[in-house]
Amino acid sequence: MENTFFIIKPDGVRRSLVGSVLSRIERRGFTIEKLEMRQVTKEILDQHYADLVDRPFYPDIVTYMTTGPVVIGILRGSNVISSWRKMMGATDPADALPGTIRGDFAHSSDNGCVENIVHGSDCLESAEREIALWFGK
Ligand code: UDP
Ligand code: MG
Repeated sequence: MENTFFIIKPDGVRRSLVGSVLSRIERRGFTIEKLEMRQVTKEILDQHYADLVDRPFYPDIVTYMTTGPVVIGILRGSNVISSWRKMMGATDPADALPGTIRGDFAHSSDNGCVENIVHGSDCLESAEREIALWFGK
């Protein structure tokens, strides 16, 4: 059993997709260990996306992620880190397969930043780091 960290991003909340995303998680059988609505700050994003802060599109990510509230949570289950990534689909919704969250609910945008509904930790180390960052130890 392992834990992963997820976000339903501002586009997901604004478009009333919270229920649809949580429903997929529940149908899959993963346990929702924590769930909370938050307004994101640049300070936490700078840490969350520490590997992206120097990229040219990073300011667009900050604008995107702070346009409205997000839903954050922790999922628990067997292989949940990679399974949740598969459920999300490819980062660019244009490449995301039908059946995935990004492939079913998003399309590619041309405003410089990829609006793709959800986030999920990409490995065990990221999951532990992100859970500690957003929820504390
Ligand atoms: N992103 C973007 N342009 C890029 C790469 C990433 O706008 O060229 C945004 C996008 O919202 C993505 C997030 O930054 O989900 C984090 O990027 P990462 O490569 O970690 O993708 P993810 O893990 O979310 O699939
Ligand atoms: Mg990532």
